[in-house]
Amino acid sequence: MSAHTVARSVTVLGGGLAGLTVARELRAGGYDGAVRIVDPEGVPYDRPPLSKAYLEGGVTVEKLHLVPEAWYTEYGVELIAAQAVRLDPGTGSVRLADGRDMVTDAVVLATGGTPRRLPVPGGDLPGVHTLRTRADADRLRDVLRPGTRIAIVGAGLIGAEVASTAVGRGAEVTLIDTVDPPLAAAVGPEMARVLHAMHPAAGIRVLTGALTAITLRQGAYVLRVDGEEVLADAVLSAVGIRAGTELARGAGLATDNGVLVDPQQRTGNPSVYAAGDCARRVLPHGGPAPAPSTGRRPCTKGSPWPPRSSGSPPRPQVPWFWSERHGSRLECVGAMNAEGRTVVRERDGQPPVFFRLGPDSTLLGCAALDSPRLVRAARRMIQSQRPTAAEALADPAVDLRGLPADPSPVHRSPGTGERADYGPAHVRTARSGGSPPARAGSPGSEPRTTSAPPGGDP
Ligand SMILES: Cc1cc2nc3c(=O)[nH]c(=O)nc-3n(C[C@H](O)[C@H](O)[C@H](O)COP(=O)(O)OP(=O)(O)OC[C@H]3O[C@@H](n4cnc5c(N)ncnc54)[C@H](O)[C@@H]3O)c2cc1C
Repeated sequence: MSAHTVARSVTVLGGGLAGLTVARELRAGGYDGAVRIVDPEGVPYDRPPLSKAYLEGGVTVEKLHLVPEAWYTEYGVELIAAQAVRLDPGTGSVRLADGRDMVTDAVVLATGGTPRRLPVPGGDLPGVHTLRTRADADRLRDVLRPGTRIAIVGAGLIGAEVASTAVGRGAEVTLIDTVDPPLAAAVGPEMARVLHAMHPAAGIRVLTGALTAITLRQGAYVLRVDGEEVLADAVLSAVGIRAGTELARGAGLATDNGVLVDPQQRTGNPSVYAAGDCARRVLPHGGPAPAPSTGRRPCTKGSPWPPRSSGSPPRPQVPWFWSERHGSRLECVGAMNAEGRTVVRERDGQPPVFFRLGPDSTLLGCAALDSPRLVRAARRMIQSQRPTAAEALADPAVDLRGLPADPSPVHRSPGTGERADYGPAHVRTARSGGSPPARAGSPGSEPRTTSAPPGGDP
């Protein structure tokens, strides 16, 4: 294979959000060589609705498509519905499961990941569900009927989302996790507590303990959790994903819970790139970025794809992810587990907003519910790396949109601007060590997707 700058054909292995975005960005950047997307699932679709609107039954298959099917013809992107089983970077050959061989100049690995199975006896019993694909969601929806007892193991993002949808469909939900609150590493312990408290309020039974075995008794699943028995008609394993690294390992590329890439998404081979959930960025000091604590690799906007051959390297993008539960939308930008302290913005009648402030007073992270404008402003502040006063972050009368460009913050009178950003100011701090925010994310997100990251003017 030849390096990307002279590649006349690019083959993208995996047609999820990352793979489709690569194809779009190639065309948007004027690339006129052949572009193929290889994926056994066929037309690329969006996964976030699988635990939410699609699982509820309110979204058609067509609505899940990331772009209309006509787009592929219009932009000359070939979809190949097959699984790649071997990659040979030396010859540029990709072997498909049906025996076909394809030759390509450059390859982008965008193979996502597969759900982890429960590592306990009975964890692989038939009917223990996982959720990654549309077919998984169809199977799960079939069992989520009024009165169904479902035990969800893992109260991270997907577990919580399914719990919320399931209780909305009338199921009796038990949500099991070893830690209380879950997600503290991803959103900070303060927001994690706010999130976890929503479940009992919605009628979900929350159980903290370690699952040790699953057995079948008279047609029901029996889950042993620290000696206690939970009876269920259905079980969902929601304990994270394993990055899809098989092709990379077979090709001799470096992997470590993800295909290791540099900030331009390059692997150790100049013709092979990796993006999305299967990729893991190597930090400047040489080690891999920490594995995502959410099981969900944050999206980034404005990715370095296609790689630039000259000029200064792109500014690092701010990681971002979102989730929904019980009618609220969580957004988290930056790193809520970075070294520093947490600043709380209390708001009358609304959940608080949490900011992570670094030792040098730069904003490192923000976690908020139902506050898209505030999160967009926080994202820009994180990107700007300007020092920010904790008092301004904590003061709900301060409009964050004034902060990055103008050191003297804009004060708004009640009744204008973002809703419920008013109320008593309160600064709380919590010190902890942390890890740098670098992650390999999806390389941009312009397709029709519920995953669009915050951007543009708030
Ligand atoms: C149920 C669910 C809900 C989610 N909700 C949210 C949310 O609310 N917010 C959020 O920020 N993120 C959410 N996510 C995460 C988000 O969907 C993923 O981060 C995103 O899908 C990653 O895109 P990707 O293209 O890297 O991987 P994927 O979407 O997993 O795509 C990988 C593709 O590669 C294909 N593939 C694998 N191996 C091969 C092979 N050998 N040959 C060819 N093709 C192959 C697979 O078939 C798959 O289609 C959710 C994920 C799930 C599963």
